[in-house]
Amino acid sequence: MPPSSTASKKGNNEAGRHQSALLYIADLIMDLTKIREQFPILERKIKGKDLIYLDNTATSQTPMRVVEAIERMYTTTKANVHRGVSSISQEATDLQEATRRRVAQWINASSEQEIIFTRGTTESINLVASSFGDFLENGDEIILTVMEHHANIVPWQLLGRRKRIILRVVPVNGRGELDMNAYRSLFNERTKLVSVCHVSNVLGTVNPIKEMIATAHANGVPVLIDGAQAVPHMKVDVRELDADFYAFSAHKMYGPTGIGVLYGKKKWLEMMPPYQGGGEMIANVSFEHTTYAELPFKFEAGTPDFVGIAALDKALDFIEETGYDNIEAHEHKLLTYTTERMMQIPGMRIFGTAADKSAVISFLIGKGHHYDIGMLLDTQGIEVRTGHHCAQPLMHALGIEGTVRASFAVYNTIEEADKFIAALERVAAMLE
Ligand code: PLP
Repeated sequence: MPPSSTASKKGNNEAGRHQSALLYIADLIMDLTKIREQFPILERKIKGKDLIYLDNTATSQTPMRVVEAIERMYTTTKANVHRGVSSISQEATDLQEATRRRVAQWINASSEQEIIFTRGTTESINLVASSFGDFLENGDEIILTVMEHHANIVPWQLLGRRKRIILRVVPVNGRGELDMNAYRSLFNERTKLVSVCHVSNVLGTVNPIKEMIATAHANGVPVLIDGAQAVPHMKVDVRELDADFYAFSAHKMYGPTGIGVLYGKKKWLEMMPPYQGGGEMIANVSFEHTTYAELPFKFEAGTPDFVGIAALDKALDFIEETGYDNIEAHEHKLLTYTTERMMQIPGMRIFGTAADKSAVISFLIGKGHHYDIGMLLDTQGIEVRTGHHCAQPLMHALGIEGTVRASFAVYNTIEEADKFIAALERVAAMLE
């Protein structure tokens, strides 16, 4: 059974409209205006209509303080990091390393040596696949789930060029929740790693990763968590989870593009060989023999995006000021309200109805093609994502080519949700 839920009732959205009046008040209490005015892009018009940005899973928008930090860095503090005694270089280094300490505290790592800056979740996972991959042998197995993003599938397949690695895949039930019995049954003496997303970028399912990590550890297997869709929306504590690796991207959490984080337990990072070679990651180089730098620099070859890293600190300021509790509560309100209203639209099919779900809604309407639905929404100023969402194996499991995906961030409003519903009603009527 596919994890979708189909609309059963015909159009009467009266009750929903009444409910929205109450939720407008909740938006006012949260003072969303103060949050929204930090994001100038939200003032934009698309095809003459107010922009309604519902593609936050792909990337979130960026508050001015992050943009200003980038500008400040370029105009006052641009000198390469960890390169000598010059004042500006030291200032830039201090800013980068302060962010590293902050990120370590943010996710409760034991030390900043466990925080490696990368280009994004994708590179973080590739790093583990490449370096941890050295410990794997022909015939070893890795457990993934059917809902993984390609970023958590293809790197493990590339490892297969060096040795024969078998991928074992956990299926989902009708709601888009992982089949935990199947998960437990996949372990055997060849299992060397579990790599699973914290939150699905398509179904919105929040996976029971603490339980999954405990199961893996009971089998002596380490776990990598792809946290790309979690860290923007919820507090993550890597030590409480006992994750061995945890990967995420700054651009999905109100930060700059081109920055990612890989958290890794020191015991693994110390054992693992470097990922790339170059400047910064060495202690001593000769043509005969090279020794590597201490953690975390062993894994940071070349000049990092120190401008972006410094600006990431300001994105964390934004989240801290807004508060994860407020973010979660507000996004949950948007999710439940929008889902209930969508389910009253004839022909609506929602993919992913997990009990624990993030504010991501993947859907199709009747026989409408996802691309056409997305185009029609765009003419009304509504930016959603269409396609396979870099999760083709999941699409195959669902028996579809793609979906339309609407995803919320803390700056979205109930008023926007109402406009989105109204637009969907018009689209549904056109497709009838
Ligand atoms: N993993 C998940 C679950 C994602 O949703 C994404 C991006 O959408 C990625 C990994 C890849 O992130 P990035 O492109 O920032 O490396």
